Amino acid sequence: MKRSLFAVAALVLAGCAAGPPRLDTTYTSANQDSRAQYLVIHFTSEGFESSLETLTRGDGKVSSHYLVRDNPPTVYQLVDENRRAWHAGASSWLGQTQLNAASIGIEIVNLGLKGPPGAQTWAEYPEAQMEVVMALVRDIIKRHQIRPDRVVGHSDIAPQRKVDPGPRFPWKRLADEGLIVWPDAADVARRLPAFEVAMPDIVWFQDRLQKHGFSVPQNGALDEATVRVLAAFQMKYRPSRYDGMPDAETAAMLDVLTGP
Ligand SMILES: [Zn+2]
Repeated sequence: MKRSLFAVAALVLAGCAAGPPRLDTTYTSANQDSRAQYLVIHFTSEGFESSLETLTRGDGKVSSHYLVRDNPPTVYQLVDENRRAWHAGASSWLGQTQLNAASIGIEIVNLGLKGPPGAQTWAEYPEAQMEVVMALVRDIIKRHQIRPDRVVGHSDIAPQRKVDPGPRFPWKRLADEGLIVWPDAADVARRLPAFEVAMPDIVWFQDRLQKHGFSVPQNGALDEATVRVLAAFQMKYRPSRYDGMPDAETAAMLDVLTGP
């Protein structure tokens, strides 16, 4: 009898020791912000069923906070916003690396680039799906106060590996609502003639792309890595041509975005 009472007491004590401390929440600091500093937009390059499988039960160890279905347009929350989803992988933007830790990820069901070699086309984002995406993006940005220069595509933060959400994603719609940074068209037109006369060298492009946010080589060479970064920039800001070649219009847009 004595021994069993002792055992019960020990259990109770152990329970107390392992329990959480009692918290007094009387005071709150004014000095804080959201852990979510970035919003990253993706396409799944798969249909809904396999996207859901990949992002929830698949063994690929990938996930996202949200999955936006195309038909019917539906937003699924797969990971709580306060927890880390695994969508960005090796990534960098504005000097911050490993964006999973500081971002919210949205995967949009969209097939991406499909078709036989030589005749590939990018899948469209249907209007009904985009309306749902826009509502979700607005809400996340507002609640977490995410800066316009930190709302990015996967291709921005991992241009060597990724092309999503691709050239069909209507970034301009986000720009029109002030949700992302965008080069003012009149400013671009004003600066364009000077760049048509004298194209900046690759050192200039690499410097400006880095200032804009990309991780890009700073070696003065138009190497494969630099071409991929240029293509990522063009895909977002001038989707009519994204060959990754430096040109006057790209220079003018970069100058407006990063210059004085
Ligand atoms: Zn992605």
